Amino acid sequence: MADTTARQNAGRNGDQLPNEDNRVVFFERAVCDLCERQIEKKRYCTLNEGETFCAECQGEATGPVQELPAFRQQRHVIRGATVYDTLCASFALHGSLDCLGSRTILDTPKSEERQLSARYKWASFNQVHSEAMAFGAGLRQLGLAPEDRVALVADHSMQWLVADLACTLFGLIAVPCHTAWDAPTFQKTLRLTACAAIVCADRLIPFFQELELLLPEAPHVRVLVDMEDRFEFAEHLLDIAADGAAQMSADAAPKRDADRNLPAENEGACATWRMREVSRLGRKHPSSPTPQEDPSAVFGLLFTSGSTGTPKAALFTNIAFNLKVTRTNMVVRGHTTFGFEPLAHSARTNSWSDLMHGLRHGIFSGDVTTIFEDIAALRPTMLDGVPRVWNELYDRYLSLLAAVRKLAAEDANGCGLPDTAVEAITMSKFKPRLGGRVECITTGGAPIAPKVPAHLHVTIAYLHMESDEFEPFRTWSK
Ligand SMILES: [Zn+2]
Repeated sequence: MADTTARQNAGRNGDQLPNEDNRVVFFERAVCDLCERQIEKKRYCTLNEGETFCAECQGEATGPVQELPAFRQQRHVIRGATVYDTLCASFALHGSLDCLGSRTILDTPKSEERQLSARYKWASFNQVHSEAMAFGAGLRQLGLAPEDRVALVADHSMQWLVADLACTLFGLIAVPCHTAWDAPTFQKTLRLTACAAIVCADRLIPFFQELELLLPEAPHVRVLVDMEDRFEFAEHLLDIAADGAAQMSADAAPKRDADRNLPAENEGACATWRMREVSRLGRKHPSSPTPQEDPSAVFGLLFTSGSTGTPKAALFTNIAFNLKVTRTNMVVRGHTTFGFEPLAHSARTNSWSDLMHGLRHGIFSGDVTTIFEDIAALRPTMLDGVPRVWNELYDRYLSLLAAVRKLAAEDANGCGLPDTAVEAITMSKFKPRLGGRVECITTGGAPIAPKVPAHLHVTIAYLHMESDEFEPFRTWSK
């Protein structure tokens, strides 16, 4: 590790080209979504829908398409001396590409239930960068300084990732906390880490406001930020001027502000702010980034969940995090990933890895019971999850298989179809439920019964690539 640090510092200070070890090689994905053939010359993409077609299949697209050159193998230097350097390289390289995706709320008559869009909408890397800069500058305006600790407490969301990026840009130390902790655990954590701010999900605001009354257990906490509704935030992010640095136009202001009546500022030591208010403040008073410059500085904390006693934390140094999120030297740009696991866990580094490598990261709609609906809407190409998810998927496949088998037996007047045909029919019905594009599944965090990945490998996940980094199917511990 010391050796790597020395070399990276040499590259940074000597202004030399980083050596081969610092390079991340991109292979870009170019497989037709319809016929699944490798695309050789031109690809055709639907606008903002993330579908790619070959020349033969482009007529089948549901909307207008744009013609683009086929992807090529490219070499890009992405890993810098610090996380910030790597992040800047990624933003510069991927600016206009899709970065974070969310479903949005459809306009429906008031009497009807809230409906979500059938497809994901995407904010570009530029838009995400702009928002993280604004939010970080806003935190500066609220008195936070480099090295201050910021607790992040929410489910997997765009807001969480934007807040984490803002911390990196402005040298704040993110302290990801688990949402299920009880009050004493939070008090202890906030006291031990001396957090200056808490950025949390809207549903947790009352909890923390009450906790505040219990202070002085955590007297350092000066700012409480409400992340607000995930869909409102997604629309806000999509509305940001796409050139990244531009000011928000007046009509891009949050649309449903009037529905909420949180005070902008509470009386007392700890003020409550809404996340978009902080960003607006930052846009009004922009500041230059103040990132960590020392690769050996503490970059962040990783807590255990607390299910086996008091949560314990591991420290990530800047360089450890940097290496972790650029650990693979080969990346397939053009992939779509799905995020739903708590970011206080290893999902944080996985999501960062997607950001660093220009992948599209779609985020769930906030309800774990409907993640398969989100997956069908997102049409991911890579899926990452814990065994519980794959077991559920396996059970769903088995019940569909049983239903098809029963139907087939009835249809054929008791003669039945060969089992291979029944499985083929089941698969043709099942695959679209995951969007039909999944090439690679990873599992981790707990042991999985071997029959489940074996089944997933045969029925769903193939990878069109030969490499040590991405075997067609591999199970590993995160
Ligand atoms: Zn095709």
